[in-house]
Amino acid sequence: MKVYNTLTRKKEEFIPLDESEIRMYVCGPTVYNYIHIGNARPFVVFDTMRKYLEYRGNKVCFVQNFTDVDDKIINRAREEGISPYEVGDKYIKAYFEDVQALNVTPATVHPRVTETIPEIIAFVEGLIQKGLAYEVDGDVYYSARKFPGYGKLSKQNIEELEAGSRVNVDERKQDPLDFVLWKAQKTEDEMAWESPWGMGRPGWHIECSAMSRKYLGETIDLHAGGQDLQFPHHENEIAQSEGFSGKPFARYWMHNGYITVDNEKMSKSLGNFFTVRDILKEFDGEVLRYFLLSGHYRGPINFSRDLMEQSQSALERMKNAKATLLHLIDTGSGPFTEEEKQKIDGYDRYRAKFIKAMDDDLNTADAISAVFELIRDVNTDTKSGASKDFARESLKLLNELTGVLGLLRKKENDSLDEELEQLIAERQEARKQKDFARADAIRDELAARGITLKDTPQGVQIIRS
Ligand SMILES: [Zn+2]
Repeated sequence: MKVYNTLTRKKEEFIPLDESEIRMYVCGPTVYNYIHIGNARPFVVFDTMRKYLEYRGNKVCFVQNFTDVDDKIINRAREEGISPYEVGDKYIKAYFEDVQALNVTPATVHPRVTETIPEIIAFVEGLIQKGLAYEVDGDVYYSARKFPGYGKLSKQNIEELEAGSRVNVDERKQDPLDFVLWKAQKTEDEMAWESPWGMGRPGWHIECSAMSRKYLGETIDLHAGGQDLQFPHHENEIAQSEGFSGKPFARYWMHNGYITVDNEKMSKSLGNFFTVRDILKEFDGEVLRYFLLSGHYRGPINFSRDLMEQSQSALERMKNAKATLLHLIDTGSGPFTEEEKQKIDGYDRYRAKFIKAMDDDLNTADAISAVFELIRDVNTDTKSGASKDFARESLKLLNELTGVLGLLRKKENDSLDEELEQLIAERQEARKQKDFARADAIRDELAARGITLKDTPQGVQIIRS
């Protein structure tokens, strides 16, 4: 597989350090609010990366943190009149609910800052001992200029960075480029821990270096996150981790592009700020997942109602293909015909196309096209019925490919709820009794719920729209 490595600005062959387990780290959310679609994009994209690596037979250790110590959390605690710990717990729970709807698999480990304090303190002490950090009145800063590779990820030189950081310079810093590793406690209600520098808490960047080291070791295969994290967050992580260990921190860096809303930057002040929760009120989580994977992860993606509706109908086409095959498995009979056997073998080219696309820097857009080419063939090849074997094998391939993308995972795609089953059975009975008025009434009621019944030689088929 090739990935675009931000560190080298090139597509490179992805070769893990240790073949037996790929180690990847993705920056997680600051848990002071519900996640918005901009947050959701890296979670879905890099969950897909992980699913794909696993599909290709790799074992993956995936670490994604929760930033549960932050000014925003402390402010939210004041607003809501609860403790910062309660704020963290509340939004961590909400995070899992939201991403579960998007079929995101939980990470191998989801460490929290509040549970990593001893490792963070030891890390900061190590940086001071190495002469890379210094203390001023209970705060600890990292001396960015002392790390020779500073700027190598964001491809900026020290002078450019210096010019950019001259605004609002903290006078206690020896240099405007220096960044905080440890913050002294200022008010009583701030979260704080004992440290060699007095009561305080970690700065933001240090947690990822400490957690990555704790769970994945000194050098990891892949570090990923949103493009907005490249500088300063990821640049500072490199300075901390490589300054500490003297070894490369991450061999590959992947960054996803921005999200705009109706072609404008998403912001609270513009009123175009959507949480995943808002969207889930109107659309199924899989529709949002489909939308997020429908463009290449590195490009910008524009969120609009139109595009969500297009994603919804594309996903419906996938679901309908699955429903057709399930129906044929129920009603079809017998083994493959000779002709079917050839067709099924021919379907291998769609798997090959899918893999080729995903191998090319996780091109989910082309991978989705390969799935639709498969679906088009399946629809043609099953038009006048098919054997059980053919339906089963076709479904296996469809599930295999959509599974990597995290789509068509919902149970309700497979079976109808009891009430609908009842209605459909009732309609069959009405037709048998030649009570066509009743049969039509039921058909209309189902149509109102987005369900079309199609009478096929194999029985009634259910089509959702
Ligand atoms: Zn991070």
